[in-house]
Amino acid sequence: MTNFFSNGNNDESSGENLFAVHKQEEQKPKDNSLNGQYNELKDNYEQIFIEAAESIRRELDTLKPKDACEGCTHKDCKIEKKDIFAPYPPTGCKLRDWQMQAITYLTGDYQTKLKAAYKAIMDKKSDYECNKCGACCKLAVSEYSYNQLKQRAMKGDKFSEAFVSVFVPYETEEEAKAANPEYFELLNILVQEDKIYYYHCPKVDSNNLCTIYEDRPSVCRDFPHNPLKLLPSACSYNEWKNEVSHQAMLLKAKTDIIKFYKEKLG
Ligand code: SF4
Ligand code: SF4
Repeated sequence: MTNFFSNGNNDESSGENLFAVHKQEEQKPKDNSLNGQYNELKDNYEQIFIEAAESIRRELDTLKPKDACEGCTHKDCKIEKKDIFAPYPPTGCKLRDWQMQAITYLTGDYQTKLKAAYKAIMDKKSDYECNKCGACCKLAVSEYSYNQLKQRAMKGDKFSEAFVSVFVPYETEEEAKAANPEYFELLNILVQEDKIYYYHCPKVDSNNLCTIYEDRPSVCRDFPHNPLKLLPSACSYNEWKNEVSHQAMLLKAKTDIIKFYKEKLG
């Protein structure tokens, strides 16, 4: 499904809070328009990514062995800058052992803490309630056509299965645009190269109310599924998103950085 970022407590072992790079922000009213949400993500993510990378680098430096090169038998070693990404010899080098230890740490304990932090973010959603505006029922989007979604569902993709059990495609883009012009137009600006498919739920009535609200499926109960997803302006979960988006971006950045370390050092 189309998520803006498709795709987490305290870090007790290192003594560093996972959210330590979350600087105190000046409190100002949040702009819940789609453009406002998009700009918030776009404007902040790069800086958060840099802060996350520095935070991870500092943690890994605490694991670096002292005087690692003393007594080394690799007489031809010419590595001057002995940082985490240097091309150390595969055997007999304590700094290469450090690299491997870093990968084990990042993909083990560290990632477990990120997952716990992400779960805490998602659990926080229960502090907020759906205001039954119907916006997410009247316009849902996917990068997959209806047939592709059904095929994915048949192959075992649970989200696709849940999605096609609720949503049906709009006949025309004009109908989709009429359902939520703001969302439609922003998506068309953001997603220019890929095709987007528009869906709606036939269970929403003319007053925007779900006709099976008490029995609505889990895909509806669990919405929004991602704290970095662009939400309809009227969605009451924008409050939750505003509260957690910085932390969620930090977790996303750290998850991406771990992948990078795995590719470079694995
Ligand atoms: S089942 Fe109800 S809550 Fe779910 S999308 Fe349809 S109208 Fe909305
Ligand atoms: S857009 Fe948000 S507030 Fe509106 S019906 Fe969907 S979940 Fe509820």
